[in-house]
Amino acid sequence: MSIPQIELLDGHRIPQLGYGVFKVPADDAERAVSEALEIGYRHIDTAAIYGNEEGVGKAIAASGIARDELYVTTKLWNDRHDGDEPDAAIAESLERLGLDFVDLYLVHWPTPARDNYVHAWQKLVGIRERALTRSIGVSNFLVPHLERIVAETGVTPVVNQIELHPAYQQRDVVQWCTQHGVHIEAWGPLGQGKYDLFGTPAVAQAAEAVDRTAAQVVLRWHLQKGNIIFPKSVRAERLRENIAVFDFELTDDQVAAIDALDPGDGSGRVSAHPEEMN
Ligand code: NAD
Repeated sequence: MSIPQIELLDGHRIPQLGYGVFKVPADDAERAVSEALEIGYRHIDTAAIYGNEEGVGKAIAASGIARDELYVTTKLWNDRHDGDEPDAAIAESLERLGLDFVDLYLVHWPTPARDNYVHAWQKLVGIRERALTRSIGVSNFLVPHLERIVAETGVTPVVNQIELHPAYQQRDVVQWCTQHGVHIEAWGPLGQGKYDLFGTPAVAQAAEAVDRTAAQVVLRWHLQKGNIIFPKSVRAERLRENIAVFDFELTDDQVAAIDALDPGDGSGRVSAHPEEMN
């Protein structure tokens, strides 16, 4: 299974497809991540708030896979933006993961009401300088948040990890990121199963035409858009299904039909709005 790598602004490379472990219970994380690694996943997306970094770390340690063949992301939670809290938070995450460094460390949400994300971002720059992470990025940042951190620190994040799926494509954020060389990580790539994405004619007809599952069609759509994705499942057969998306292609028309699933008024969002998450 050969997963394409994307080169980030800082020259580091990231596997375009990985395994996200949001809502994977702490006591099941070691098993689930071990299965994912066995199946061929090499990129794991976790976060301090997911409460499963220890399980992720145990699976990594047990796998025997060389550290430089793995890509691990974790994230700074919202209540740790102030003062030296980010330094403590990364130290704790690394301890739980059993790693000397992560590949990517993200500010999880801008939390505008706390109004301290610029400071948090500046702290991540220091964390990268101390080699506790190879790359730094942000998550759930809207255009004004992105513009502000770049203007005030001069440092551009390598990725912005945002809610993105066919009904909610955040085109304004994607356009800003594309113009500035910031890669998009699409979270909730399958819409978190919260609407009937697989039953839409655009997806169902493409699935029929390419003889793949609807989930594979949606994941393939992301890959052809250039998005980095890490769909979540705790079931081995779905982990296998979700990684088997590199041996077929959607036509331009099939991609365009899925592009058209966003009503364009923001109503397709299935999770929290960044302005309201604090
Ligand atoms: P997702 O879109 O990956 O949906 C996951 C759900 O889709 C699963 O619970 C499962 O029910 C279903 N599913 C998975 N594979 C399937 C298949 N082959 N067929 C049918 N159904 C299938 O949503 P997600 O887990 O929220 O997003 C993926 C990852 O993104 C997370 O695990 C996490 O790592 C990350 N994430 C980040 C943020 C953030 O704020 N940065 C927020 C949410 C998620």
